[in-house]
Amino acid sequence: MSSRPDHQGPDRDALMPLALPGLRFAEHRTAIEQAIARVFARGKFILGEEVAAFEAEFAQYLDARHVVAVGSGTQALCFALLALGVKPGDEVVTVAMTFAATAAAIELVGARPVFVDVDPVTRCMHPRALEAAIGLATAAILPVDLHGCPADMDAINDVARRHGLAVLADCAQSHGASIGGRRTGTLADASAFSFYPTKLLGAAGDGGAVVTNDAALAERVRRLRNYGFDDTARAIELGTNGRLDELQAAILRVLLPDLDRQISRRRALAAQYREHLNGAPLELPLAHDGAVYYQFAIALDQRDQVRQRLRTRHRIDTGVHFELGVHQHPHFARPGLVLSVTERLGRQLLSLPIQPEVAEGRVSEIAEAVIESIRECR
Ligand SMILES: *Cc1c(COP(=O)(O)O)cnc(C)c1O
Repeated sequence: MSSRPDHQGPDRDALMPLALPGLRFAEHRTAIEQAIARVFARGKFILGEEVAAFEAEFAQYLDARHVVAVGSGTQALCFALLALGVKPGDEVVTVAMTFAATAAAIELVGARPVFVDVDPVTRCMHPRALEAAIGLATAAILPVDLHGCPADMDAINDVARRHGLAVLADCAQSHGASIGGRRTGTLADASAFSFYPTKLLGAAGDGGAVVTNDAALAERVRRLRNYGFDDTARAIELGTNGRLDELQAAILRVLLPDLDRQISRRRALAAQYREHLNGAPLELPLAHDGAVYYQFAIALDQRDQVRQRLRTRHRIDTGVHFELGVHQHPHFARPGLVLSVTERLGRQLLSLPIQPEVAEGRVSEIAEAVIESIRECR
């Protein structure tokens, strides 16, 4: 077996990985090195020009009024919840078909996550399940754009409006996605992004952002990320240290202009998968016009056997996101709570390689291997 390092690119005899985040940086290596040199030449590493410029550029990309860059997606969720007024004792309705950080953020601000099931088609929050879960303690709604497919924000916002509730969108997987031409990040009272290295827009370390059109909410997040300080460095509320740093902002500024090209390459790969997998005994992800395919996850029986066969027989690595609903993690366990669609998808979802640097030119081979493996595992 080959031991070639990732940055040299895929090797056809080796295991085809699900993703290789390093390759994206390799493509922009010169520009990234120049950006890093610029930060060192300036000698300012926290809350300087790069962070301010990235915030402005990402706001322009999204067509949002305010972007506040923070230290991670989890911090973005926490700060946004606090700025929306969520407080200890409150309940926040969210999904269990997500990364555990979504629910952790709710608990970290002292509130309680209430998990509802997802729609089997979008795999995102089911608006009717949301409505049924709203109670006297509900303070906010936290949908997640799973795998880059936008949640049904029109229906969710409609429920929120009727009940007078705030909506925070977890857009950690949906950079650049849209509904009717409007980008995710602009479809809720506040939205949280992550720039973890594997995300569609990823830094070379941790990062995140809160996006909103509400100036007061943005101001509040600016204070929360910086010790609760006002403009004159007086702590006027409890805050912490939760900033994106200049080096990460400089790197994100190199990658942001390439995001739309990344997305169109992913959409082209998704279209190829649809063509090659058409008629196979599996469920395809929703063909949503505004989806950005952070993952391309099929749903199938015998997922684990198929996955094993793909790896050993075809040398193709695949991913499972997420095997356990958050309500099935020990810390978040809710005895008696059954979320049947979430739990079924947890058993059935299989993410196929969709990162362009890995999957371009290989979709028909992967799709054929999937079909052959399903046949063999019946
Ligand atoms: C990645 C992710 C997060 C957490 O982001 P971090 O930057 O790792 O803190 C939250 N929610 C979802 C849906 C994610 O995919």
